[in-house]
Amino acid sequence: MDLEFSAEDLAFQREVRDFLDTHLPDDIREATARTPTVFVDKDIAMRWQAILVEKGWAVPNWPEEWGGTNWTTTQRYIFTTECNRAGAPMLIPLGIAMLAPVILAFGSEEQKQHYLPKMLSGEHYWCQGYSEPGSGSDLASLKLKAENKGNHYLVNGSKIWQTHAHFADHIFCLVRTDNSGKPQQGISFLLIEIDTPGVTVEPIITMAGDHEVNQVFFEDVKVPVDNLVGEEGKGWTYAKYLLEFERGGGMSAQKRQQDLEHLKAIVSEMEQNNPDFNAQGEYTREIAHIEIDLKALEMTELRLLSLLASGGNPGAESSVLKLTTVGIEQRTHQLAMDVIGYHGLAAEPVALLAANQNAVGPDYAAPVVPTYLNSRAASIFGGSQEVQRNILAKAVLGL
Ligand SMILES: Cc1cc2nc3c(=O)[nH]c(=O)nc-3n(C[C@H](O)[C@H](O)[C@H](O)COP(=O)(O)OP(=O)(O)OC[C@H]3O[C@@H](n4cnc5c(N)ncnc54)[C@H](O)[C@@H]3O)c2cc1C
Repeated sequence: MDLEFSAEDLAFQREVRDFLDTHLPDDIREATARTPTVFVDKDIAMRWQAILVEKGWAVPNWPEEWGGTNWTTTQRYIFTTECNRAGAPMLIPLGIAMLAPVILAFGSEEQKQHYLPKMLSGEHYWCQGYSEPGSGSDLASLKLKAENKGNHYLVNGSKIWQTHAHFADHIFCLVRTDNSGKPQQGISFLLIEIDTPGVTVEPIITMAGDHEVNQVFFEDVKVPVDNLVGEEGKGWTYAKYLLEFERGGGMSAQKRQQDLEHLKAIVSEMEQNNPDFNAQGEYTREIAHIEIDLKALEMTELRLLSLLASGGNPGAESSVLKLTTVGIEQRTHQLAMDVIGYHGLAAEPVALLAANQNAVGPDYAAPVVPTYLNSRAASIFGGSQEVQRNILAKAVLGL
């Protein structure tokens, strides 16, 4: 196992750093740092995507003929960690990083020609229709009904928790086309235009006061049969394939390091501006603990990278990464809450912030509460912590 970068990889790292220094606009970096939600808003992400498309670096995972980079696994890792280090926003993965591999692997030639270039140019913006009320961790129990009427499917039911559905013009959905047999067998994978008559997107405002997720309703929605990906009844196979890319979106020690740097900056502001504040003792001890855990996480990522670079599969390691990363993320934001103390009260009246009035309290404390509240969701989406532990219990401990 080799955890050192080669001379070529170090040269590539310098090239990426130079590019980020000269091409990542300050306002995009600042907006990313201020964003409490998982994804930045559509306009910010799409501006950054356009810059990367111009450079040819937007979709490293795609085959070269469709715009990919043909980078090695290590180069992709370097690119991701350098983007995180520079404070660049994550490109919205729902289309380019999650749906695209499914279309490439299982879609028709027409679907590839139609959807992939529009995903890249930003003409199409996708959201993910997997979860339903009552079907989250137990996804195979999903009920959104799609009846095959010959030239179209008639879709009825609802999906819930769709991130960025309010920005999206397309949704990829797991639908139920058959109720006989095992639940997994009657699932199909359907691509739906959001402005089709009968589709309604309703906002869900979270306890952090942000609008990131939605519920999507389908009432007698006619979807052309050509919008089926692969074969009818094989959707579960495609769905699991997509989840490998959703969960494999890890490698985020550098992103969590940025959170820690923000926390240290807040501690330093508190020390300068509040004579009664004393960071010594429990705060510095916990910061040191997080720093050590981050180093261990980085080493785990490098070990996994070494495995992937030599052709291995992530397997249960990706569950370890998700558990550890989310644990560190939530501890960091919890500590930030403790550090700002009563300044956190200023973020309570969400209606006041929504009305665009000035927040009470110092600027450096303002993003702490919404970020903390938003980060609570990290242990739920992409497979909850309990679900990851179940995977480890089975796959590693053989329980
Ligand atoms: C911010 C956010 C964004 C999301 N974005 C999307 C999106 O874009 N598209 C989409 O389709 N979905 C999305 N989701 C939904 C997400 O995938 C589900 O919330 C998740 O799968 C959990 O399902 P659930 O909410 O129904 O909770 P449940 O599955 O009902 O779980 C409730 C609790 O029970 C625990 N639990 C469940 N089963 C077990 C078990 N077998 N053993 C032990 N404990 C268990 C869970 O860990 C959890 O603590 C998003 C969720 C959030 C919070």
